[in-house]
Amino acid sequence: MMSRWLFACLSLGLALSAAPAWAGAASGTVPPEIAAHFTPEDLARGRAYMDGRYWLFAAGTALRLAALACLIFTPASASLRNLAVRLSPAHPAVAVAIYIALLELASELLTLPLGYYAGFVREHAFGLSTQTGGAWLLDRAKGAMISLILVVPLGSLLTLLWRRYPGRWLLPAWTLGGAIVVLLVALSPVVIDPLFNTIRPVQDSALRQRVLALAQRAGIPVEEVYEADASRRTRKGNAYFTGLGATKRIVLYDTLITQSDPEAVELVLAHEMGHWTHAHIWKGIALTLVGMGFALWCGARVLAWAGARRSFHLAGPADVAGLPLFLLVLFVLNLAGLPLQSAISRHFERQADQASLELTKNPAAFIRAEVDLARTNLADLAPPPALVWLLYTHPPVAERIRMAEAFGATSAPPVSR
Ligand SMILES: [Zn+2]
Repeated sequence: MMSRWLFACLSLGLALSAAPAWAGAASGTVPPEIAAHFTPEDLARGRAYMDGRYWLFAAGTALRLAALACLIFTPASASLRNLAVRLSPAHPAVAVAIYIALLELASELLTLPLGYYAGFVREHAFGLSTQTGGAWLLDRAKGAMISLILVVPLGSLLTLLWRRYPGRWLLPAWTLGGAIVVLLVALSPVVIDPLFNTIRPVQDSALRQRVLALAQRAGIPVEEVYEADASRRTRKGNAYFTGLGATKRIVLYDTLITQSDPEAVELVLAHEMGHWTHAHIWKGIALTLVGMGFALWCGARVLAWAGARRSFHLAGPADVAGLPLFLLVLFVLNLAGLPLQSAISRHFERQADQASLELTKNPAAFIRAEVDLARTNLADLAPPPALVWLLYTHPPVAERIRMAEAFGATSAPPVSR
């Protein structure tokens, strides 16, 4: 029964990783909003860029699935555990930490070539990257260090719970995981983000005044808006809302400030404020906790089943060598949940778009911002509907323009400033 379930999971993962192939067949037609605001060259460039990104998603997914399957269905994971035990025979906890560190390093090395191609070679080929190879590698090394620092103690704690509370580790693991999620969201703006970017209050005083006036109208306590020196890495424009409590903040890419007109920047800010007023970060955390609880429960069931079977080369359900199987369960559940996660995210983005229009009453600037960003970031202007369903965290460009046009048709002219 369970082996059929596992087989079904793997098949589902592989089928989803082939999504670009079946979605390509149903490639989107060009909506009238796109024909009105973009040139055929814009369309072709966006499609060429994004087509490759879809395939890279598929390749990355297939690669991870294959690596995990290889660890699980051969003695590879058990051999790695034996190696870790030989390196630290007297200290089981250290051996566990070594095993997890080796697993993490192997994963980094395995995904490095694809990551280099996607994040450096291709970004340069499309004129988007401003990074040198050395700078890219430094980013990658920093990311790997952060992963190691997080994953080794957390993985060790998880497997400690497996051993200490066999059959009862679910609740403590879920509590621990939830606390880590909240802590990471709260601390990343001040601890992790500054490792990659210089983040400082917005320097342009006119923009700052606009921000404060906008925040006052939105009724949210924004005293400062930040800018990140994204231009050291990319020509893409963006902005994001991050943090919790005292670290809650809106951050603009410097590329957005320099490339867009002030009214369009204001629209982007109003969108981020929409996320703020709708409490999307807290809602996102709550949904993550629900998903995590379900995933941990499934992981526990699979480990309990596999631990008793010789074909998995495990010494029992609490064996650290079962970690790849546990990760496979989380990975496949995450894949299966992608359409739901994307739909929820698109719903949040629509709410933020609507809030930005209501706050600024400036649909013309909204459309300008949308068109500028889509052109700069090489968006797929007519994405296949199946890929929107699976992967799109934001509504497609045409839908957002349509929303602004509908708003413009039914509302008063912009608020005068
Ligand atoms: Zn958003």
